[in-house]
Amino acid sequence: MAVLHNRISQKELKERLYQETEPRTTLSFYHYFIIEDPKQFRDMLYKQLNELKVFGRIYVAHEGINAQVSVPVSLFESFKNYLYSITALNGIRLNVAIEDDGKSFWVLKIKVRDKIVADGITDPTFDMSKKGSYVNAEQFNALTNEPDTIVIDMRNHYEFEVGHFENAIEVPSDTFREQLPMAADMMKDAKDKNIIMYCTGGIRCEKASAYLLHKGFSNVFHLEGGIIHYANTVKEKGLENKFLGKNFVFDERLGESIGTEIIAKCHQCGKPADRHVNCINSACHLLFIQCESCAKEFEGCCSKECQDFIHLPEEQQKALRKGIDKGRNVFNKSRIRKLQN
Ligand SMILES: [Zn+2]
Ligand SMILES: [Zn+2]
Repeated sequence: MAVLHNRISQKELKERLYQETEPRTTLSFYHYFIIEDPKQFRDMLYKQLNELKVFGRIYVAHEGINAQVSVPVSLFESFKNYLYSITALNGIRLNVAIEDDGKSFWVLKIKVRDKIVADGITDPTFDMSKKGSYVNAEQFNALTNEPDTIVIDMRNHYEFEVGHFENAIEVPSDTFREQLPMAADMMKDAKDKNIIMYCTGGIRCEKASAYLLHKGFSNVFHLEGGIIHYANTVKEKGLENKFLGKNFVFDERLGESIGTEIIAKCHQCGKPADRHVNCINSACHLLFIQCESCAKEFEGCCSKECQDFIHLPEEQQKALRKGIDKGRNVFNKSRIRKLQN
């Protein structure tokens, strides 16, 4: 019988990866297309990609595929050929990570999910095949020069806070599923305008564009490959850059500057800052923006309370930490920003 799941311990897998001498290429791709039998598609994919020594995290759903993987350099062509042999995936863009040591994954995990992007949509007539038109960086720049164009940011508030496109509108919510109806409502008087949606890599705004079309909008566009691809294209082709500030990314850098300006403020003192950090108090771990001098003053903590906490004896901290569910603790300023505007 074919191996369809990994059966080796995490520890051993990690060790194997570190003993590997061949470099790996890390890349991501996604595509919306109808998969009739996600379970069967998943098993077929696992079998083939396992043979090609691919590691990573892949989600498969009725609506498509979303993947972040690493591939040994010598097998990259075979990997690409295999992927492109699947009709729906033929020619899809593979986003290769630039700064990367190839050690981000040490096992292949392919999971069947309800959706590749959780959207909360229950309407059975919603159709992902009717989506907005792609715009590339050049078209984005040209279209945003027209007065009848509205740009909507479909990322989270903390991503918007440190960087976004000129004149972009923020949809102030913590979750994508809340943002969809909210965006449609915010735009209800602009049904005849050009609406361009964007996100980090394109997967969310592509769905959002289909959602607006579903809601009766007619001129809906979405930025191909998201901010990441836009920033690369602008650099490569020497185009005008309309992205201000930093692009937030979930790795140890927590952000990559695209524009040169700092558009956010330190949450503690209000001085210009765009450095996201997690509160050093592990019972809090709040994600917030902190300037260098506040980092010193508060010893990496988000508040005086947390600073006091980290100086308690370890035993006492442990006792107090019990029962605290920190979840995804994120400082949310978007609602405050909304009220100020
Ligand atoms: Zn500060
Ligand atoms: Zn804290």
